[in-house]
Amino acid sequence: MMKTPSGVGRAALIGAGPGDAELITLKGARLLGQADAVVYDNLVGPGILDLARPGAERVFVGKTAGRHSLPQEDICHLLVDKAREGKFVARLKGGDPFVFGRGGEELEALRAAGIDVEIVPGVTAALGAAASFGFPLTHRDHAQSCVFATGHLKDRRVDLDWTALARPGQTVVIYMGVAGLDAISARLQAAGMPGDTPAALIHRATWPSQRAYPGTLATLPEIAGKNQLRPPALIVIGGVAGLLRREGK
Ligand code: SAH
Repeated sequence: MMKTPSGVGRAALIGAGPGDAELITLKGARLLGQADAVVYDNLVGPGILDLARPGAERVFVGKTAGRHSLPQEDICHLLVDKAREGKFVARLKGGDPFVFGRGGEELEALRAAGIDVEIVPGVTAALGAAASFGFPLTHRDHAQSCVFATGHLKDRRVDLDWTALARPGQTVVIYMGVAGLDAISARLQAAGMPGDTPAALIHRATWPSQRAYPGTLATLPEIAGKNQLRPPALIVIGGVAGLLRREGK
């Protein structure tokens, strides 16, 4: 691939945090304020784009009604092209760029094109949810470990190490699991996790519209159906989900 001459363009992968604009880091906000172009999607919370320069170009690459988000490959090309125009490109990503955010692919594409990339971590959705609804992910009475897993469907199936996830004394947080919730609930129970294990669905943590739906491993699918739950939402499973304060903050 063609090497970009040094001094031509650069990029930052910036974690925007889970939604609340005050949860972006100082570094993220500073770099966002310096960027010439900002590439963002649906998971970036309200007000965060206001931190960009008024004159900065804003490029939305997420889903709109009736249209899919831009394919990942096209997003990678776009970032490289903008940087090659000599711009400082901020790629704003919900939560943390490296937690199920495909930031790794964007980093590789930019690096392969010889573009300097800075990475700014962000508050991932699980941490935002725990803070907003007041349940410590590793409360010592309930969990000695905490696992983040993806519930994303591959060929209509969720493929995870169910035995490992079903272990006691663990908090399991599943990202992108709404569509696969029935399978997730059934497979964890089949792997030995009791159906009455506390669990919760958390929609848009830290956004003004945030909501938590507490239940149990066995009841979550029904709760999701009744409430017509749509992404983005997290599935939290384990004793700590029983500590959740439903009203949120
Ligand atoms: N990089 C992001 C995750 C991207 S994957 C992060 O670190 O948070 C997208 C998934 O993240 C969504 O399907 C949902 O499961 C979860 N998610 C992101 N923001 C969320 C929020 N505010 N509340 C609940 N879930 C969220």
